[in-house]
Amino acid sequence: MMASGNIAELRHRLIETAGGFYARGWSDGTGGNYSVLASRDPLRVLITASGVDKGRLTPEQILELDDQGQVLSGEGKPSAETGLHRAIYDTVPDAGAVLHTHSPACTVLSERHGRDGVIAITGLEMLKGLRGVTSHDHVEYLPVLENSQDIDGLAVRFAVRLTADPRIHAFLLAGHGLTTWGRDLVEARRHVEILEFLLEVQFRRELLG
Ligand SMILES: [Zn+2]
Repeated sequence: MMASGNIAELRHRLIETAGGFYARGWSDGTGGNYSVLASRDPLRVLITASGVDKGRLTPEQILELDDQGQVLSGEGKPSAETGLHRAIYDTVPDAGAVLHTHSPACTVLSERHGRDGVIAITGLEMLKGLRGVTSHDHVEYLPVLENSQDIDGLAVRFAVRLTADPRIHAFLLAGHGLTTWGRDLVEARRHVEILEFLLEVQFRRELLG
């Protein structure tokens, strides 16, 4: 049985977000996963189910989870990367949505800079689309963590880095993808758009040499 009201509306907005990212080539096939908080206390997370096509999501494929990760409504298993979303909700007190994409630019750059552990981007007007950034002179440091199938281990690494530096806007997993968040779905979506733009520009800068 599907939930009604606010939850139905949030499901609709996640489907719309996912469809837009799919159309931009940021989450081909079943790549990527998206979540939004329906409530913080008690914790209720809406998150895409594992293995579903992000360009053709149905409301049932967006699962409502309780604070123990149990499925309250929807069909299927929660995304394998649910633990990463949870780490951000638990560490960033005002996070209201978490979005994770798999674009080619992000995949190539995170692989190339995996050993450095960071990609630094500066000098671009579009940096100002990130929360709290007011100048193109800002240097945005994107941490690059080694990819792993051990999601619990990665979640701990996310939490440790975020606690050490709350100014972080996003994480990259090497050869894998981008994870960012916002106070709500609108801000998280803007962060994906801005970061994907910055990474695409950085990719072209490095190609030009
Ligand atoms: Zn992923």
